[in-house]
Amino acid sequence: MVVKFNEYNLLFKYPFTISKGTKTHQPTFVVELGYFGVKGYGEAPAISYYNIPVEKMVADLERKRVFIEKFAFSDPERYWHYLHHLFPANPFLVCALDMAGWDLYGKLKGKQLHNLWGLDIAKSPTTDYTIGIDSIENMVAKMKEKPWPIYKIKVGVQNDIEMVVELRKHTDAIFRVDANAGWTLEEALEKIPLLKELGVELVEQPLAKDDWDGMKTLFESSPLPLFADESCVAETDVEKCSGYFHGINIKLTKCSGITPARRMIEKAKALNIQVMIGCMNETSVGTAAIAQLAPLVDFVDMDGPLLLAEDIAAGVGFDNGHICYTNSPGLGISINPF
Ligand code: MG
Repeated sequence: MVVKFNEYNLLFKYPFTISKGTKTHQPTFVVELGYFGVKGYGEAPAISYYNIPVEKMVADLERKRVFIEKFAFSDPERYWHYLHHLFPANPFLVCALDMAGWDLYGKLKGKQLHNLWGLDIAKSPTTDYTIGIDSIENMVAKMKEKPWPIYKIKVGVQNDIEMVVELRKHTDAIFRVDANAGWTLEEALEKIPLLKELGVELVEQPLAKDDWDGMKTLFESSPLPLFADESCVAETDVEKCSGYFHGINIKLTKCSGITPARRMIEKAKALNIQVMIGCMNETSVGTAAIAQLAPLVDFVDMDGPLLLAEDIAAGVGFDNGHICYTNSPGLGISINPF
Protein backbone atom coordinates (compact mmCIF):
# COMPACT_ATOMS: atom_id res chain seq x y z
CA MET A 1 0.00 0.00 0.00
CA VAL A 2 1.28 3.50 -0.83
CA VAL A 3 0.20 6.21 1.59
CA LYS A 4 -0.01 9.88 0.61
CA PHE A 5 -1.83 12.72 2.29
CA ASN A 6 -2.75 16.38 1.93
CA GLU A 7 -3.55 19.01 4.52
CA TYR A 8 -6.06 21.77 3.81
CA ASN A 9 -7.38 24.83 5.57
CA LEU A 10 -10.70 25.53 3.85
CA LEU A 11 -12.58 28.81 4.06
CA PHE A 12 -16.16 28.82 5.32
CA LYS A 13 -18.76 30.71 3.27
CA TYR A 14 -19.56 32.65 6.46
CA PRO A 15 -17.69 32.63 9.79
CA PHE A 16 -19.19 29.62 11.60
CA THR A 17 -20.33 30.23 15.19
CA ILE A 18 -21.65 27.73 17.73
CA SER A 19 -21.96 28.07 21.52
CA LYS A 20 -18.26 27.13 21.81
CA GLY A 21 -16.86 29.87 19.54
CA THR A 22 -16.34 31.10 15.97
CA LYS A 23 -14.13 29.88 13.14
CA THR A 24 -13.49 31.18 9.64
CA HIS A 25 -11.59 28.14 8.28
CA GLN A 26 -11.87 24.37 8.61
CA PRO A 27 -8.53 22.52 8.78
CA THR A 28 -8.80 19.02 7.35
CA PHE A 29 -6.64 15.99 6.62
CA VAL A 30 -7.18 13.78 3.56
CA VAL A 31 -5.33 10.52 3.01
CA GLU A 32 -4.84 8.54 -0.22
CA LEU A 33 -4.18 4.79 -0.14
CA GLY A 34 -2.75 3.40 -3.37
CA TYR A 35 -3.07 -0.34 -3.94
CA PHE A 36 -1.93 -1.78 -7.29
CA GLY A 37 -2.95 1.44 -9.05
CA VAL A 38 -6.36 1.76 -7.35
CA LYS A 39 -6.70 4.75 -5.04
CA GLY A 40 -8.91 5.18 -1.99
CA TYR A 41 -9.53 8.45 -0.11
CA GLY A 42 -10.52 9.28 3.43
CA GLU A 43 -10.91 12.48 5.45
CA ALA A 44 -10.82 13.73 9.03
CA PRO A 45 -11.42 17.43 9.78
CA ALA A 46 -9.68 18.77 12.89
CA ILE A 47 -12.08 19.96 15.59
CA SER A 48 -10.36 21.93 18.35
CA TYR A 49 -12.84 20.69 20.95
CA TYR A 50 -11.57 17.12 20.41
CA ASN A 51 -7.93 18.24 20.57
CA ILE A 52 -6.57 16.40 17.53
CA PRO A 53 -5.06 18.97 15.15
CA VAL A 54 -4.04 18.03 11.61
CA GLU A 55 -0.38 18.18 12.74
CA LYS A 56 -1.02 15.32 15.18
CA MET A 57 -2.66 13.22 12.45
CA VAL A 58 0.38 13.84 10.22
CA ALA A 59 2.92 13.14 12.99
CA ASP A 60 1.21 9.90 14.09
CA LEU A 61 0.89 8.72 10.50
CA GLU A 62 4.54 9.44 9.73
CA ARG A 63 5.67 7.63 12.87
CA LYS A 64 3.92 4.41 11.83
CA ARG A 65 3.80 4.81 8.05
CA VAL A 66 5.78 1.62 7.47
CA PHE A 67 3.20 -0.47 9.34
CA ILE A 68 0.38 0.92 7.22
CA GLU A 69 2.28 0.47 3.98
CA LYS A 70 3.18 -3.15 4.66
CA PHE A 71 -0.37 -4.18 5.68
CA ALA A 72 -1.82 -6.86 3.39
CA PHE A 73 -5.21 -5.27 2.68
CA SER A 74 -8.07 -7.69 2.21
CA ASP A 75 -11.15 -6.23 3.88
CA PRO A 76 -11.88 -2.92 5.62
CA GLU A 77 -13.09 -4.41 8.91
CA ARG A 78 -9.84 -6.28 9.47
CA TYR A 79 -8.00 -3.11 8.45
CA TRP A 80 -9.90 -1.02 11.04
CA HIS A 81 -8.90 -3.41 13.85
CA TYR A 82 -5.27 -3.10 12.78
CA LEU A 83 -5.50 0.72 12.68
CA HIS A 84 -7.34 0.90 15.99
CA HIS A 85 -4.47 -0.93 17.69
CA LEU A 86 -1.86 1.11 15.82
CA PHE A 87 -3.39 4.49 16.82
CA PRO A 88 -5.48 3.93 19.98
CA ALA A 89 -5.38 7.64 20.91
CA ASN A 90 -6.10 9.07 17.47
CA PRO A 91 -9.66 8.21 16.32
CA PHE A 92 -9.52 11.00 13.72
CA LEU A 93 -6.54 9.48 11.90
CA VAL A 94 -8.11 6.02 12.17
CA CYS A 95 -11.29 7.47 10.63
CA ALA A 96 -9.44 8.91 7.62
CA LEU A 97 -7.59 5.63 6.99
CA ASP A 98 -10.68 3.46 7.57
CA MET A 99 -12.68 5.60 5.12
CA ALA A 100 -9.89 5.32 2.54
CA GLY A 101 -9.88 1.55 3.09
CA TRP A 102 -13.62 1.37 2.39
CA ASP A 103 -13.27 3.59 -0.71
CA LEU A 104 -10.52 1.31 -1.96
CA TYR A 105 -12.54 -1.82 -1.18
CA GLY A 106 -15.60 -0.52 -3.04
CA LYS A 107 -13.45 0.39 -6.04
CA LEU A 108 -11.84 -3.07 -6.06
CA LYS A 109 -15.33 -4.61 -6.01
CA GLY A 110 -16.64 -2.11 -8.59
CA LYS A 111 -19.54 -1.03 -6.38
CA GLN A 112 -20.54 1.94 -4.31
CA LEU A 113 -20.60 1.03 -0.60
CA HIS A 114 -24.36 1.30 -0.11
CA ASN A 115 -24.72 -1.23 -2.95
CA LEU A 116 -22.19 -3.55 -1.37
CA TRP A 117 -24.15 -3.39 1.88
CA GLY A 118 -27.47 -3.94 0.09
CA LEU A 119 -29.00 -0.63 1.25
CA ASP A 120 -31.84 1.23 -0.43
CA ILE A 121 -30.84 4.87 -1.00
CA ALA A 122 -34.51 5.78 -1.49
CA LYS A 123 -34.65 5.44 2.32
CA SER A 124 -31.97 8.11 2.94
CA PRO A 125 -33.49 10.92 5.03
CA THR A 126 -33.32 14.52 3.82
CA THR A 127 -30.32 16.40 5.21
CA ASP A 128 -30.72 19.56 7.24
CA TYR A 129 -28.89 22.84 6.60
CA THR A 130 -27.15 24.55 9.52
CA ILE A 131 -27.69 28.15 10.57
CA GLY A 132 -24.82 29.17 12.86
CA ILE A 133 -25.16 31.72 15.65
CA ASP A 134 -25.09 35.32 14.43
CA SER A 135 -27.11 38.51 14.80
CA ILE A 136 -30.79 37.64 14.36
CA GLU A 137 -30.88 39.78 11.22
CA ASN A 138 -27.98 37.83 9.68
CA MET A 139 -29.49 34.48 10.66
CA VAL A 140 -32.74 35.37 8.93
CA ALA A 141 -30.79 36.51 5.85
CA LYS A 142 -28.78 33.26 5.73
CA MET A 143 -31.94 31.19 6.02
CA LYS A 144 -33.69 33.15 3.27
CA GLU A 145 -30.63 32.78 1.04
CA LYS A 146 -30.90 28.98 1.31
CA PRO A 147 -34.52 27.83 1.07
CA TRP A 148 -34.43 24.35 2.62
CA PRO A 149 -36.95 21.88 4.10
CA ILE A 150 -35.04 21.35 7.39
CA TYR A 151 -32.78 23.75 9.29
CA LYS A 152 -30.51 22.94 12.19
CA ILE A 153 -30.23 26.08 14.28
CA LYS A 154 -27.27 26.52 16.60
CA VAL A 155 -28.42 27.72 20.00
CA GLY A 156 -26.91 27.79 23.51
CA VAL A 157 -26.73 31.56 23.96
CA GLN A 158 -28.75 34.04 26.04
CA ASN A 159 -31.14 35.21 23.30
CA ASP A 160 -31.63 31.88 21.53
CA ILE A 161 -35.40 31.69 22.02
CA GLU A 162 -35.70 35.14 20.48
CA MET A 163 -33.60 33.87 17.53
CA VAL A 164 -35.91 30.91 16.90
CA VAL A 165 -39.06 33.07 17.32
CA GLU A 166 -37.78 35.44 14.63
CA LEU A 167 -36.65 32.68 12.23
CA ARG A 168 -40.05 30.99 12.61
CA LYS A 169 -41.76 34.14 11.28
CA HIS A 170 -40.09 33.54 7.91
CA THR A 171 -40.53 29.81 7.26
CA ASP A 172 -42.62 26.71 7.98
CA ALA A 173 -39.57 24.45 7.52
CA ILE A 174 -38.68 21.83 10.12
CA PHE A 175 -36.36 23.21 12.83
CA ARG A 176 -33.83 21.23 14.87
CA VAL A 177 -31.72 22.96 17.49
CA ASP A 178 -28.21 22.16 18.71
CA ALA A 179 -27.10 23.75 22.00
CA ASN A 180 -23.59 22.24 21.81
CA ALA A 181 -23.60 21.72 25.59
CA GLY A 182 -24.39 25.41 26.11
CA TRP A 183 -27.32 25.25 28.58
CA THR A 184 -27.62 24.64 32.31
CA LEU A 185 -30.34 22.21 33.42
CA GLU A 186 -32.51 25.16 34.52
CA GLU A 187 -32.17 26.86 31.12
CA ALA A 188 -32.95 23.62 29.29
CA LEU A 189 -36.03 22.94 31.44
CA GLU A 190 -37.29 26.43 30.67
CA LYS A 191 -36.36 26.65 26.98
CA ILE A 192 -37.26 23.23 25.59
CA PRO A 193 -41.07 23.61 26.12
CA LEU A 194 -40.87 27.01 24.38
CA LEU A 195 -39.00 25.41 21.46
CA LYS A 196 -41.68 22.73 21.24
CA GLU A 197 -44.25 25.54 20.83
CA LEU A 198 -42.12 26.92 18.00
CA GLY A 199 -42.35 23.65 16.09
CA VAL A 200 -38.85 22.39 16.85
CA GLU A 201 -38.39 18.69 16.09
CA LEU A 202 -35.49 17.72 18.35
CA VAL A 203 -32.78 19.12 20.61
CA GLU A 204 -29.14 18.16 20.32
CA GLN A 205 -26.72 18.15 23.27
CA PRO A 206 -28.56 20.47 25.66
CA LEU A 207 -26.19 20.03 28.63
CA ALA A 208 -22.47 19.57 29.31
CA LYS A 209 -21.22 16.22 28.04
CA ASP A 210 -20.74 14.73 31.52
CA ASP A 211 -23.90 16.08 33.13
CA TRP A 212 -25.61 12.68 33.33
CA ASP A 213 -27.62 13.64 36.45
CA GLY A 214 -28.96 16.69 34.66
CA MET A 215 -29.76 14.60 31.60
CA LYS A 216 -31.72 12.07 33.67
CA THR A 217 -33.95 14.87 34.97
CA LEU A 218 -34.31 16.44 31.54
CA PHE A 219 -34.96 13.12 29.82
CA GLU A 220 -37.85 12.41 32.17
CA SER A 221 -39.63 15.69 31.52
CA SER A 222 -38.57 16.89 28.05
CA PRO A 223 -41.43 17.38 25.57
CA LEU A 224 -38.89 17.06 22.72
CA PRO A 225 -36.52 14.20 21.81
CA LEU A 226 -32.98 14.79 23.08
CA PHE A 227 -29.96 13.75 21.01
CA ALA A 228 -26.42 13.14 22.29
CA ASP A 229 -23.50 14.50 20.29
CA GLU A 230 -20.63 15.47 22.63
CA SER A 231 -21.93 12.83 25.12
CA CYS A 232 -21.74 10.06 22.51
CA VAL A 233 -18.27 9.86 20.99
CA ALA A 234 -17.10 6.27 20.83
CA GLU A 235 -18.80 2.89 20.50
CA THR A 236 -18.92 2.34 24.26
CA ASP A 237 -20.96 5.54 24.70
CA VAL A 238 -24.05 4.20 22.90
CA GLU A 239 -25.13 2.07 25.83
CA LYS A 240 -24.44 4.91 28.29
CA CYS A 241 -26.96 7.11 26.46
CA SER A 242 -29.81 4.65 26.97
CA GLY A 243 -32.26 6.21 29.45
CA TYR A 244 -30.60 9.63 29.17
CA PHE A 245 -31.12 10.54 25.51
CA HIS A 246 -33.73 9.57 22.92
CA GLY A 247 -31.18 9.55 20.14
CA ILE A 248 -27.49 9.85 19.30
CA ASN A 249 -25.61 11.78 16.65
CA ILE A 250 -22.94 9.49 15.19
CA LYS A 251 -20.05 11.21 13.42
CA LEU A 252 -17.41 9.24 11.56
CA THR A 253 -14.50 11.34 12.77
CA LYS A 254 -15.17 11.14 16.50
CA CYS A 255 -16.04 7.42 16.50
CA SER A 256 -13.04 6.50 14.27
CA GLY A 257 -14.64 5.67 10.96
CA ILE A 258 -17.24 3.83 8.92
CA THR A 259 -16.49 0.44 10.51
CA PRO A 260 -17.38 1.39 14.12
CA ALA A 261 -20.21 3.69 12.93
CA ARG A 262 -21.99 0.70 11.38
CA ARG A 263 -21.72 -1.21 14.66
CA MET A 264 -22.97 1.84 16.61
CA ILE A 265 -26.04 2.12 14.37
CA GLU A 266 -26.84 -1.53 14.97
CA LYS A 267 -26.33 -1.19 18.72
CA ALA A 268 -28.52 1.93 18.93
CA LYS A 269 -31.32 0.21 17.04
CA ALA A 270 -31.15 -2.76 19.40
CA LEU A 271 -31.47 -0.34 22.35
CA ASN A 272 -34.35 1.52 20.70
CA ILE A 273 -32.28 4.71 20.43
CA GLN A 274 -32.86 6.88 17.36
CA VAL A 275 -29.89 7.64 15.12
CA MET A 276 -28.73 10.80 13.43
CA ILE A 277 -25.60 10.71 11.30
CA GLY A 278 -23.80 14.02 11.53
CA CYS A 279 -20.87 15.88 10.07
CA MET A 280 -17.92 17.97 11.18
CA ASN A 281 -17.83 20.24 8.15
CA GLU A 282 -16.20 17.62 5.94
CA THR A 283 -15.57 18.27 2.25
CA SER A 284 -17.27 16.06 -0.36
CA VAL A 285 -14.83 13.24 0.55
CA GLY A 286 -16.06 12.73 4.11
CA THR A 287 -19.61 13.76 3.21
CA ALA A 288 -19.83 11.06 0.52
CA ALA A 289 -18.86 8.55 3.22
CA ILE A 290 -21.66 9.81 5.48
CA ALA A 291 -24.10 9.47 2.56
CA GLN A 292 -23.28 5.75 2.27
CA LEU A 293 -24.69 5.18 5.76
CA ALA A 294 -27.70 7.50 5.38
CA PRO A 295 -30.20 4.75 4.39
CA LEU A 296 -29.62 3.15 7.82
CA VAL A 297 -30.47 6.17 9.99
CA ASP A 298 -33.43 8.33 11.08
CA PHE A 299 -31.91 11.80 10.65
CA VAL A 300 -29.11 13.20 8.51
CA ASP A 301 -26.95 16.27 9.07
CA MET A 302 -24.36 16.31 6.27
CA ASP A 303 -24.24 19.86 4.98
CA GLY A 304 -20.44 20.34 5.21
CA PRO A 305 -19.88 21.07 1.51
CA LEU A 306 -22.73 23.62 1.60
CA LEU A 307 -21.11 25.57 4.44
CA LEU A 308 -17.61 25.63 2.97
CA ALA A 309 -16.58 28.14 0.30
CA GLU A 310 -14.24 25.58 -1.33
CA ASP A 311 -14.26 21.84 -1.95
CA ILE A 312 -11.56 19.36 -2.97
CA ALA A 313 -13.68 16.63 -4.58
CA ALA A 314 -17.04 16.04 -6.21
CA GLY A 315 -19.41 13.19 -5.67
CA VAL A 316 -22.36 13.97 -3.47
CA GLY A 317 -25.08 16.40 -4.42
CA PHE A 318 -28.06 17.97 -2.70
CA ASP A 319 -31.40 18.67 -4.26
CA ASN A 320 -33.38 20.68 -1.71
CA GLY A 321 -31.92 18.48 1.04
CA HIS A 322 -32.40 15.26 -0.90
CA ILE A 323 -29.07 13.39 -1.19
CA CYS A 324 -27.96 12.76 -4.81
CA TYR A 325 -25.61 9.80 -5.31
CA THR A 326 -23.27 9.16 -8.24
CA ASN A 327 -22.69 5.84 -10.03
CA SER A 328 -18.96 5.70 -9.19
CA PRO A 329 -17.65 2.88 -6.98
CA GLY A 330 -16.36 3.19 -3.42
CA LEU A 331 -17.47 6.44 -1.79
CA GLY A 332 -18.64 7.63 -5.21
CA ILE A 333 -16.31 10.61 -5.40
CA SER A 334 -13.99 12.04 -8.05
CA ILE A 335 -10.81 13.77 -6.92
CA ASN A 336 -7.43 14.62 -8.44
CA PRO A 337 -4.82 12.02 -7.36
CA PHE A 338 -2.21 13.30 -4.88
MG1 MG B 1 -23.84 18.81 17.46
